Amino acid sequence: MATRITIAPADALQRGPADAAVRFLRPGELRLEALPPLSLYVHFPWCERKCPYCDFNSHAPEGPIPEADYLDALCADLEASLPLVWGRRVHTVFIGGGTPSLLSAAGLDRLLGDLRARLPIDADAEITMEANPGSAEVAKFRAFRDSGVNRLSIGIQSFDDRYLRPLGRIHDGAEARRAAEAAVSVFDNVNLDLMYALPGQSLDDCLRDIDTALGFGTRHLSVYHLTVEPNTVYAKYPPTDLPDDDLAADMQEGIVERLGGAGFDNYEISAWARPGSRSRHNLNYWTFGDYLGIGAGAHGKLSFPERITRQARLRQPQSYMEGALRGDASAESHDLDTAAIPGEFMMNALRLTDGVPTTLFAERTGLSIGSIARAMAEACARGLLDPAPERIRPTDLGRRFLNDLQAMFIG
Ligand code: SF4
Repeated sequence: MATRITIAPADALQRGPADAAVRFLRPGELRLEALPPLSLYVHFPWCERKCPYCDFNSHAPEGPIPEADYLDALCADLEASLPLVWGRRVHTVFIGGGTPSLLSAAGLDRLLGDLRARLPIDADAEITMEANPGSAEVAKFRAFRDSGVNRLSIGIQSFDDRYLRPLGRIHDGAEARRAAEAAVSVFDNVNLDLMYALPGQSLDDCLRDIDTALGFGTRHLSVYHLTVEPNTVYAKYPPTDLPDDDLAADMQEGIVERLGGAGFDNYEISAWARPGSRSRHNLNYWTFGDYLGIGAGAHGKLSFPERITRQARLRQPQSYMEGALRGDASAESHDLDTAAIPGEFMMNALRLTDGVPTTLFAERTGLSIGSIARAMAEACARGLLDPAPERIRPTDLGRRFLNDLQAMFIG
């Protein structure tokens, strides 16, 4: 039977992190032979302005960003979490937001020093930082690199002023180009985030953005279909001139042709990489690896020998900082229902074009592959899943109807 244990903020962590660790080690229903690789996610919750389509935990600050206080809070949050990851090495770090490039060079240097002093981070760890063109300068990028950041991910979205304006971005096309140039001049490993199906966008303009991005010679691109998410300004006042489904499908087809022709591999729904440049951090998410999430609103997933837990931190920056300094930044912490685990694994694994080795299911979930055998057989029979036994891999049809395929594994 499924177990669901909610640990209120005032419960385990308030009685001390060691208590919390003991609770997570008590007997459960799963049998994990080994714990998965561990990543660290650090959330920075401020942006210069809130974009109308954005549903991330990002806030326009009312005054100066309280950088020093926030770094203190991150440190306290990490220290309170350490008993949950004792003895585990960190393979990748992702500093996301929000706009973490609003951090000063000294602030970022302190943050990475604080992390390294408390966690065994691999010497060759991928350390990614997100940046936005409005807050991008070569000198700052160099300082970030010298502090240890080795991968930069820039939220370009478009190089065209006509489409950046309705997105509410603070940068224009010229700044987007300058930021991409600055990034590739400093970092070997750069990702550019782009969006398509933007209000009023034509097929030619969409592909021009792709060509412009390719011109910078980056090794990784993330290309997202603009979606109207609940609880955003766009949800309340939807743009009236969004491309229709046919045009959006033509854009998608054009993107596949352009990027495929340029030697990029579409290894995940929205992620494109040249050989050897896949995002190690994101691959850990998609292969159901573990991640400790610290910072306002950060989410985490941690495995223990007999359970898998999900955690979330308090969302509002002020409440988070106060909570973290009291030793209790948790908004939620619960064991995954045993019945929900196969669905969670498959939601992630099926995003990958090559899927995952079949053996990974038992390794990461602590459950037998038999628990999804019937759904797998049905998905194979419908042509959505590759019948080869050694991998769980969506077919081309399965990738086209990914939502339907994923739904087959949700109990
Ligand atoms: S810059 Fe990014 S994180 Fe910030 S509000 Fe805009 S979309 Fe959201």
